[in-house]
Amino acid sequence: MTAAAPAPTRATRVLVLNSGSSSLKYQLLDMTDDSRLAAGLVERIGERQSRLTHSPLASDGDRRERVAPFPDHEAALKAVAAELDADGLGLDSPALAAIGHRVVHGGQRFTRPTLIDDTVLAEIERLVPLAPLHNPANLAGITTARALNPGLPQVAVFDTAFHTTMPEHAARYAIDAATADAHRVRRYGFHGTSHAYVSRKTAELLGEDPAGVNVIVLHLGNGASASAVAAGRCVETSMGVTPLEGLVMGTRSGDIDPAVVFHLVRVAGMSVDEVDELLNKRSGLRGLCGDNDMREISRRSEEGDEAARLAFDVYVHRLKKYIGSYYAVLGRVDAVAFTAGVGENSAPVRAAAIAGLETLGLSVDPVRNEASGRADSPAGGAARLISPADARVAVAVVPTDEELEIAQQTYAVISRTSA
Ligand code: ADP
Repeated sequence: MTAAAPAPTRATRVLVLNSGSSSLKYQLLDMTDDSRLAAGLVERIGERQSRLTHSPLASDGDRRERVAPFPDHEAALKAVAAELDADGLGLDSPALAAIGHRVVHGGQRFTRPTLIDDTVLAEIERLVPLAPLHNPANLAGITTARALNPGLPQVAVFDTAFHTTMPEHAARYAIDAATADAHRVRRYGFHGTSHAYVSRKTAELLGEDPAGVNVIVLHLGNGASASAVAAGRCVETSMGVTPLEGLVMGTRSGDIDPAVVFHLVRVAGMSVDEVDELLNKRSGLRGLCGDNDMREISRRSEEGDEAARLAFDVYVHRLKKYIGSYYAVLGRVDAVAFTAGVGENSAPVRAAAIAGLETLGLSVDPVRNEASGRADSPAGGAARLISPADARVAVAVVPTDEELEIAQQTYAVISRTSA
């Protein structure tokens, strides 16, 4: 006997909203075939010249641009709703099933995507001290969307949720337990939507059930994080109480001796805010060589630029340390998956991070690796193996798709609640 089919519904579209502190990204997807109907971005919200770029993907219409002052997220989202409306895809369309919101911090409270009501909003608000830049922007997106269409289901999809399966010994910092508990200081991890999607896609690429494989996921974008995923569940990740811990990133330091902070405050006379700005905005690749774009760093180091070469080496050295330590955490590794801007596009980073790990069963086939590093690669955006055919551990490039994952999780929540 087959399982009962989900209740038929005409509402099959999900609008995904990702509200940053001064930006709003959106995509409208149709869940019958995961196709994109529209996508766009509002930048510089709160400044004198905000810019809205809207692509009507369902029609052959041209990309539209609007430059206007959007003082806040409410004004920005209203402008987005008007653009969607002009394409017949407005927020009051009966085909729209829900809005899925990316919410950065769900603390220990939110372990899965959650239908938003007043209680959930209050809980997200309570987490603001843990994500003072991100959660308020996410909340602004949610409250505005609710005001525009109060009857439409809204779902919060948390960046931290996938990591809530981490065992306590991985999530705990070795500091005074009472202080840690009082201030909710523990390792939460971020980019969870991407780690969930990529680890599952990697299992698919291997032709295995996610429950049967162990994967190390390396999400290398401007922000970067690693995770160890055992049988579909996260057991360790590199970001901590904030996204500052772990790998070397575009402008963030990643791991550092915490006493560097005391030193800079006591000896260099810097304020806490100045050190915060240093470690988050003037560190990482940019701090080491002045550039935070891996394309530029690779080009400069090929031309013999010493600072760019060192930045590349520091970045790759940290990455390799994480691959080794996550290998030890997992015990058995079936695949290492590279994803996000650097992971999907930089063949030199992938080759250097895996070089010398043959005794762990890890190696990269240079031809496969180079081929999948080119934008015009025949593999396009598909997940693909870059390890040799007889490799003991697969090495893969697996393009991430956080919007699709948020849309799917959102649709699953409302399908469950309306069943
Ligand atoms: P975000 O974290 O902002 O979502 P992305 O995942 O889009 O970032 O990654 C952006 C980064 O990807 C850029 O800063 C750049 O370093 C890197 N990147 C993009 N394209 C390439 C490329 N062809 N080669 C090397 N690095 C690239």
